Amino acid sequence: MVYIHVPFCHRKCTYCAFYSKPVRGADFFDRYVDALLEEMERRKGEQNHPIKTIYFGGGTPSILPIGGLQRIVDGLHRCFDLTALDETTIEANPEDLTPEYLSTLARLGFNRLSIGVQSLDDGVLRMLNRRHTARQAMDAVENAHRAGFGNISVDFIYGISEGVGILDDLDVLEKVAHVSAYALTVEPGTALAVQVEQGRVVLPGDDEVARQYHALHERLEAEGFRQYEVSNYARPGFESRHNSRYWDRTPYLGLGPGAHSFDGKKRTWNNPDGSVGEEILTAADAYNEMLMTSLRTVRGLPVDDVRDGQKEKLQPYLDCSWLVVGDGRYHPTTEGLLHADGMAAALFV
Ligand code: SF4
Repeated sequence: MVYIHVPFCHRKCTYCAFYSKPVRGADFFDRYVDALLEEMERRKGEQNHPIKTIYFGGGTPSILPIGGLQRIVDGLHRCFDLTALDETTIEANPEDLTPEYLSTLARLGFNRLSIGVQSLDDGVLRMLNRRHTARQAMDAVENAHRAGFGNISVDFIYGISEGVGILDDLDVLEKVAHVSAYALTVEPGTALAVQVEQGRVVLPGDDEVARQYHALHERLEAEGFRQYEVSNYARPGFESRHNSRYWDRTPYLGLGPGAHSFDGKKRTWNNPDGSVGEEILTAADAYNEMLMTSLRTVRGLPVDDVRDGQKEKLQPYLDCSWLVVGDGRYHPTTEGLLHADGMAAALFV
């Protein structure tokens, strides 16, 4: 699997701690694509072929002009065996998804769109410093649907304000196959962290965030979606293949500034200054990661993978119904998924 990182945004959202740079100058994207293609050529042998999934993430990949996207897609065809490709995703912000841009994405072979809707409340969108309005988000979903995209995912954020209506717009839900829903987190160093510290933004407490999680869950399940990971819901058969392979710890090649790669044992990443970082996973690191990713998915944790002497640590979670056992696995319940990180941490070695 191949990940292409596009770390550019028009402006910074208040909550965002991702590495992303503002766009500068007319030839900016040409230089980015030149460097990306050079890296692709140099590192193409690092990934097993054929490639099954490709994911353009960011940042804002839909900021790329069509000519740049075309050159990257041509490069992927030159460098990799794509005969078994079954999913090609691009993350997009609503304001970029004009009918022309959408039809070009379809022509270039993208078959899955992940749209950063975040909220359908204009006040919340302004507070988060998003560039789009609720109307633009709804139009983007509608236009993508009309352009023939049958596999549309939308991102939502909850836990932003008290008692807010979430996913009230059924028209949007009808046209999408996948929803990623994240609780807002306050990351150090972000504009949101400053606003919260100064009391200019007051976020709901843990009980209200949990209430919104359950309300969202019920709404999505009632509309035919199934939760398959703590933050991800899909109609049957529309689970993200690319992301599911991350959770199975499948090796991947990440290209572009800030991108991470994993070869099964070693994680590497491209630092913004051009150097490459590297971390070799110890057996303990690999075990802890397996616990974390397994307990965040409804597939759960294989009972046989839990180390000797550790199973009794899970008993309290079985007693309070955060976990149930079936098919040789510990499966987190809806409530248990909310506490997945804590349960995993209790078993860390
Ligand atoms: S568009 Fe995405 S990556 Fe860019 S600043 Fe906003 S949240 Fe961060």
